Amino acid sequence: MICNNLGVNEKGHLTFAGFDTVELAEKYQTPAYIMDEQKIREKCRIYKKAMSEYFGGESMPLFASKSLCFKHIYKIMAEEGMGIDVVSSGELYTAASTGFPMEKAYFHGNNKTDFDISFGMDKGIGYFMCDNADELKVINAFAKDRGIKQKVILRLTPGIDPHTHAKISTGKVDSKFGAAIETGQAKELLELALSMDNIDVKGFHCHIGSQIFEYKPFCDAAIIMIKFIVDMKSELGFETDTLNIGGGMGVKYVESDPEIDYAANIKGIAELIKGECAKYGVKMPQILMEPGRSIVADAGLTLYTVGGRKEISGFRNYVSIDGGMPDNPRYTLYQSPYTVVVANKMNEKADYECTIAGRCCESGDLIQEGVSIAKPVRGDIIAVLTTGAYNYAMASNYNAIAKPPVIMLNGNDSYVAVRRETFEDMTACQN
Ligand SMILES: *Cc1c(COP(=O)(O)O)cnc(C)c1O
Repeated sequence: MICNNLGVNEKGHLTFAGFDTVELAEKYQTPAYIMDEQKIREKCRIYKKAMSEYFGGESMPLFASKSLCFKHIYKIMAEEGMGIDVVSSGELYTAASTGFPMEKAYFHGNNKTDFDISFGMDKGIGYFMCDNADELKVINAFAKDRGIKQKVILRLTPGIDPHTHAKISTGKVDSKFGAAIETGQAKELLELALSMDNIDVKGFHCHIGSQIFEYKPFCDAAIIMIKFIVDMKSELGFETDTLNIGGGMGVKYVESDPEIDYAANIKGIAELIKGECAKYGVKMPQILMEPGRSIVADAGLTLYTVGGRKEISGFRNYVSIDGGMPDNPRYTLYQSPYTVVVANKMNEKADYECTIAGRCCESGDLIQEGVSIAKPVRGDIIAVLTTGAYNYAMASNYNAIAKPPVIMLNGNDSYVAVRRETFEDMTACQN
């Protein structure tokens, strides 16, 4: 099994966090997102421990809200001592409504509206991750109106050569995010920020991409960022307090993905950063990381009920399920690989090759192609594994299909963290 919270019981049913998933499907109906609270906490602790051990006590992981956002997640993050990043006023509102400590919240995004900036300040957000000069000016003006000095971290693009790292693209010079170091825009943004009375520049941020299995790309980015820190110290006399190296550590979705040792990766990055700082004689900054997927992905799976099979000879077999792109658009969007099993037939031979099709009126509404599973019949339960990140968070109401509930498993308890949407919920905003 791809994660240690999965198993098979004496009935031949898939178990998750110690629960029989077939019983869960009966109790909560399908489709349903099922989440393992202990796994989320375990991942938070891996990051917390490794970061404090290797980077020092000031360091902090920030949970990337965009990967999974609902109230209960923020209660867990607060209890685990995590910070958070948010990318919209909606995420910020959700976190704030649970009493999450706002000084540990960081506001991201390449286009923060005036509303976002003032909403963030009204909520007492700790930091804005400032993306560009236009928003910096608004942050400064609004901070002045409020008589405060707003802490900001400048988002930079380290310009990692895409020819050597084809898979990681958000840190390229040609990106909608941040200011490029290579073109001189990063320095200009810093100079502008330093000239402003109501801006307190704490440091720099970069995020190179997602689903990265090795730590070398993070090191490559860190080398460039530290070089920039060194240059800004000598050119502008600016001393950096904080360096945020972003999120993006990978997750095992299918057997062929490597096993990832998060603590070892963090150790490798820390050794490099410490070495670079010592080499250039700059103080070691507080290090922040922003894991999303690697905190919640394998803490989740989705349960569906099979509607039927369609065997098209000479072509392929389709298995239809009672969910699809509204609850998991990731295969449709970018052909994301997933492991699929028939939860009530775990001991049967998985030799039925098929495409798992959603229920939307859209040919591209597929969850996975070319998987081998036990031959299913109508009523069987399909589990799609590792759906804790970017599934509920990306869910839509396409075809006026209601969003599934999020069920949390915790030891001997299961509880509803997000209830199933109703038709009334879906039409509540409509006049
Ligand atoms: C998406 C994103 C993250 C989280 O990425 P994961 O791959 O989920 O860890 C963190 N920081 C920024 C700026 C992002 O855009």
